[in-house]
Amino acid sequence: MPNTATILPKLILAVAKTIEINAEELTALDQAIGDGDHVTNLQRGIQALTAQSESLSQLDWQTALQKMGMTIMSSVGGASGSLYGTLFLAMSKSLNNQPLTLTTFPDVFLKGVEAVKQRGKADKGEKTMLDVLIPVAEQLRQDANAVNIFEQFKQAAIAGAESTRDMLATKGRASFLGVRSQGHIDAGAKSSQLMICAIVDALI
Ligand code: ADP
Ligand code: MG
Repeated sequence: MPNTATILPKLILAVAKTIEINAEELTALDQAIGDGDHVTNLQRGIQALTAQSESLSQLDWQTALQKMGMTIMSSVGGASGSLYGTLFLAMSKSLNNQPLTLTTFPDVFLKGVEAVKQRGKADKGEKTMLDVLIPVAEQLRQDANAVNIFEQFKQAAIAGAESTRDMLATKGRASFLGVRSQGHIDAGAKSSQLMICAIVDALI
């Protein structure tokens, strides 16, 4: 990974595109067991990050991740705003003046996911974005030297999103529905999967 965040405009664009292409499906998922605002929440953040894209690309990763976390916190509404904001801020903090490299990334991402768990008081199996973020973090740490490493991240994210279908929601708005939350994929898990897959595709 380059020492500066020069690749960020490309990654932000890739994320914007996948949310745009899948907006209808994601909105339907959030309407089924949430309140239907997930895409507009995400798009507010994506627009704010797109506006900062050029200036972010001049920064080192630690500063860029911190700036992105603050922008996400202040622009994205809903539960997902503070959770994604926390992910980026904790990743920045865990860098602790070290460069972001393929070697340091798995640990940095794991620290970010741990902070999301704390912030949301949630864990794997509760039908949230964590059902994607946790398996991907585990995959990253296990298979640093695997041949199909990028494909495996994508598969972990896809399996994680699918795994939420039959889960009972115990966190977030969907938990208000009790057993009626079963049978629907969680919108936040699906959007996390889509964004992770788009980022991986943009990197290879
Ligand atoms: P809101 O639920 O406030 O309308 P969004 O629709 O933007 O916010 O995001 C909803 C998503 O946030 C859910 O689909 C779920 O994946 C995630 N989420 C909600 N609560 C939590 C939590 N406590 N921990 C982790 N993720 C959560
Ligand atoms: Mg919502």
